[in-house]
Amino acid sequence: MVRLITHNLLACHVRGCTSNNFPLVFKDVQLQLKEAEYNPDFLRGFMPKLEWKALVDTAKSLNNQSLPDQAPEPQAANEEFLKILHHVLLEIHVEEGAMLCPNCSHVYPISNGIPNMLLQEHEL
Ligand SMILES: [Zn+2]
Repeated sequence: MVRLITHNLLACHVRGCTSNNFPLVFKDVQLQLKEAEYNPDFLRGFMPKLEWKALVDTAKSLNNQSLPDQAPEPQAANEEFLKILHHVLLEIHVEEGAMLCPNCSHVYPISNGIPNMLLQEHEL
C-alpha cells in the first residue's frame, strides 16, 4: 500500500537518474483514509528517518496542509503534533494514480494501492 511513510523513502531508480529524483510527485491520485493504531513511540523513533521537507510538500500536494514547515525534535514533539504526523504518515492511502519522477519523468503507476516500481529493460 502507498502511504506517505513509504513514499518518503522512494526515489526514482531508472538507470542514470541519480539527482533531483526525489520525492516522486503524485499525479491523478485517489485517496482513501483508513484508521491506524496510534503509536507515539514509533512516530518519535521514525522522525529522524524522515525527509521532512519532502513530506510537507507531498502532503500539501494532496491538499493536506496540517504539518509545520519545521519538525520539532522528537523528544519535544507533543501529542497534538504526533497525532497530525500519525494521520499524514499512516492513515492517508493512495489507492490509484501514479508517481512521477521530477527528474526523468518516469511514471510509476499505482493500482489497487500497489505501486509498480518495475522498470522496462532499457531503463535498468
Ligand atoms: Zn527518474
